[in-house]
Amino acid sequence: MNAYLKRVLDETKAKNANEPEFLQTVEEVLTSIEPVLDAHPEYEKACLLERMVEPERTIEFRVTWMDDNLQWHVNRGYRVQYNASLGPYKGGLRFASNVNLSIMKFLGFEQVFKDALTCLPIGGCKGGSDFSPIGRSDGEVMRFCQAFMTELYRHIGPDVDSPAGDVGVGGREIGYLYGQYRRIVGASGMGALTGKDIKTGGSILRPEATGYGAMYYLVEALKHDGEDIKGKRIAISGYGNVGWGIMKKAADLGAKVTYFAGPDGYIHDPDGVTTEEKLNFILEMRAKDPMHCKPYAEKFGVEFVEGTKCWGVKDVDIYMPAATQNDVNLDWAKKIAASGVKYYIEVANMPTTNDALEFLKAQKHMVVAPSKAVNACGVSVSELEMAQNAQRQYWTAEEVDAKMQQIMKNIYNASVEAAERYGLGYDLVAGANIAGFQKVADAMLAQGIF
Ligand code: GLU
Repeated sequence: MNAYLKRVLDETKAKNANEPEFLQTVEEVLTSIEPVLDAHPEYEKACLLERMVEPERTIEFRVTWMDDNLQWHVNRGYRVQYNASLGPYKGGLRFASNVNLSIMKFLGFEQVFKDALTCLPIGGCKGGSDFSPIGRSDGEVMRFCQAFMTELYRHIGPDVDSPAGDVGVGGREIGYLYGQYRRIVGASGMGALTGKDIKTGGSILRPEATGYGAMYYLVEALKHDGEDIKGKRIAISGYGNVGWGIMKKAADLGAKVTYFAGPDGYIHDPDGVTTEEKLNFILEMRAKDPMHCKPYAEKFGVEFVEGTKCWGVKDVDIYMPAATQNDVNLDWAKKIAASGVKYYIEVANMPTTNDALEFLKAQKHMVVAPSKAVNACGVSVSELEMAQNAQRQYWTAEEVDAKMQQIMKNIYNASVEAAERYGLGYDLVAGANIAGFQKVADAMLAQGIF
C-alpha cells in the first residue's frame, strides 16, 4: 500500500477509533484513490489527505423542546461543515434515532466527493439530530424543528451553508425549519435551505430528483452494455422519497420495480409498481406508517414476505439498495452474486459494507455502481434551487429535467474516464471516487493553506 495512504489511514483510525461508519467510508474512498496518490507525490507535502479527512468545522448543539404532553426533551443537533473548497457547504439533515457523530461524519465525508462529482459550485457537509419524527405529531415535529433552527440559523445562509433533507427530513420538516429561519433572520436568505415547497421557493422536481437521477445513471450504465431500460425488472429496498422516485421514473421509462423492501419485510409485485393508483398508495401508506409495507400486499393482492430482505431474488435484472447505510453485508452480497443478476446500483448513502462491496466488485459477471455518483441528482437539484432563488426565478420542469439528465450523464462519463485514466478498466466505484477526489484536491491546492 502507498506509504502516505497507509500512514493517514492508521492515524485516522487511531484518532477516531469510536466512529466505525466514518472509518468505513474513509477506508473505502482512500484505498480506491491509491493510483492517484502514487501519481501525485506532491499531495503528501501539502498534507492533502490529512486535511481531507478532518472536517473544517463540527458544530454540536443541544436541542430542547416540549412534546404534546408538556414533557421536556433534550436531543443533540449536529452540522459537520466538511469541506468548502468548491463552494458553500451543501448537504442534508438527517433526523433519526441512531444519528451520532460517526454517522454525521461519514455522511459529510461522502457528501464532499458527491458534491464535487456534480461539477456544481458546492462544498460538502451534513447535519441532523438523534430526534426521530416517526410517531410524533405535527406539532411536536414543528416545535422540534423550531428549536433545532434556533441554534442552527447562525451557522447557515445562502452563501455559507444550505441544508436540505435526508432520512427523516422531508418537505414538512424543511417547511418548519425554513419558517423558523425566516422568523429569525427576516425575509432574506431564500437559498439558505433547499427542498422547500414550490410555493416558498422550492424547485420543481426536487422531491423526485434523487430517484429520477438514479434511473438516468442506470440508463447510461445499461447503454454502455448495449442494453435498453425498457422491460427491465428492478428490486429495491426503501420506498421513501428516493425509492418512490425510482418506481415512478422506472414506470415512465418502460421498466418496473417488482420487489421493494421495508423495515417489516418485502413486497413482490410481478406487475410492478407502475400505475398511478399504486404509486399514490405508497405515498399514503408511508405517511400513515413508515415502518410497514405489508398494507401494499393486502391492498393489491400480492406477496409479502415478512422479516427479511429481497436481496438474492433471481427474477430481476437490477438491484438498487435505496434504504440506508450497511443494508447489504457480505452474506447478502453472496446471495446477490449467486442470483446471477448483473447490475448492483447503490442508491442510499453507503448501503454496502466494505467487504460486501469488494466481494461484489470482484464478481466478473457484475456491474457495481457507487451511491455517491448514483444519488447525486438530489443535491444537484438542491443547487439548482439555490440558483433559482438567487435569480428570483422559477424554472420549468423541462428545464430542470434537462439539467438533471445532463448532470447524471456527466457524472457517469467522468467516472468511466477517471478509472480508465488510471488503468483500472471499467470500474465505476473507483472512477467516481477518483473524479470527485481530484476535483477537491485541485481546488484545495489552488487555494493554498485551507
Ligand atoms: N441528503 C441528500 C444527499 O445525501 C441531499 C442533500 C442536499 O440536497 O443538499 O445528497
